[in-house]
Amino acid sequence: MTCHEEEEIPYDVVRDFDLMDGGDPTTPPRFSCEQCGEEMYPAYYKGVHGQEYKLSDIL
Ligand SMILES: [Zn+2]
Repeated sequence: MTCHEEEEIPYDVVRDFDLMDGGDPTTPPRFSCEQCGEEMYPAYYKGVHGQEYKLSDIL
């Protein structure tokens, strides 16, 4: 979100994060940028509960 670095994260990894994050459906799994340490947001991700997150929705 800060340096615009893009990182490909395997779906299985994101899904595991999603399952571990307490089940809050309003927020997607969060990853930290390896470049700057800031939060990353998925360009597109469909969660385990059917929710969808798109980066374009919050910009
Ligand atoms: Zn960054």
